[in-house]
Amino acid sequence: MLRIALQSKGRLNEKSIELLSEAGIGIEESNRRLLSKASNFPVEILYLRDDDIPQTVSCGIADVGIVGYNEVLERDYPVEVFQHLEFGKCRLSLAVPKYIEYTGPEFFEGKKVATSYPGILRAYFGRLNINCEIREITGSVEISPSIGLADGIFDIVSSGGTLVQNGLAEVETVMESDAVLIGTPGLDGEKMQTVRTLMSRFTSVLRSRGKKYLLVNVPNDKIDEALKIIPSMKSPTLLPLADKGWSAIHAVIDESEVWDKADRLKQIGAEDILVLSMEKLII
Ligand code: ATP
Ligand code: MG
Repeated sequence: MLRIALQSKGRLNEKSIELLSEAGIGIEESNRRLLSKASNFPVEILYLRDDDIPQTVSCGIADVGIVGYNEVLERDYPVEVFQHLEFGKCRLSLAVPKYIEYTGPEFFEGKKVATSYPGILRAYFGRLNINCEIREITGSVEISPSIGLADGIFDIVSSGGTLVQNGLAEVETVMESDAVLIGTPGLDGEKMQTVRTLMSRFTSVLRSRGKKYLLVNVPNDKIDEALKIIPSMKSPTLLPLADKGWSAIHAVIDESEVWDKADRLKQIGAEDILVLSMEKLII
């Protein structure tokens, strides 16, 4: 039995459960206590505050966990980072009041910066050889400059809206983050096997996100041109139609490209373009 630590509530909770569920691991809503079992896969779920996940995984109380990469770096416990999961995307940036004429990181020499991520920031200034006083605070970091607590802040940014509302300008991006699957170093063979199955299921789910399944009928003499418009992952799926002289092409394409490709296929004489949503792409 593999024990997975997930954030109990907050930004990563729902998406983590959604990823597990799309990977075929069902957790019943009513079952969400501190510890719950999955119905159809040898895992149990431990719900924690995200701050505690790296340590819990590092010491083996949970075998694996899903947590922001920023928390992994900040806590700095020895863990394996198995997989980036492409949700919970954000960046950790330095910001200063917008009236400041910022010229580069040397600005922070001898200054004070407020943050909830002192470890990552200390390492960053250490690499640049900049002496800066780091003031660790746990919440509302963005108001620190306006109340005179700090000259700048170092915090999570996603859209940048909070910075603008507080009269701040983002000046340096120190790291990019997304949710990651982490594990205890040196998991035994059986647990590692379950982790590998989990990772390959996650890969399938992530690959199918943002993809559509396209079916299109093309005259046989236009097949080459059509295949240039919709390159396939391996060899194209090509099926003859009952009407001689026509074939159907099946392909997986990015959702963002659907309209462009459909327009170009129509221009070369393709007909009956069908776009379907895709649930899984298992490779
Ligand atoms: P907990 O109660 O579990 O300690 P928290 O308040 O520390 O939760 P959340 O705000 O739920 O944490 O954020 C969890 C993670 O989501 C962050 O560590 C980060 O990796 C990611 N994240 C993505 N976008 C944002 C954002 N705009 N603001 C904050 N975190 C974000
Ligand atoms: Mg937290």
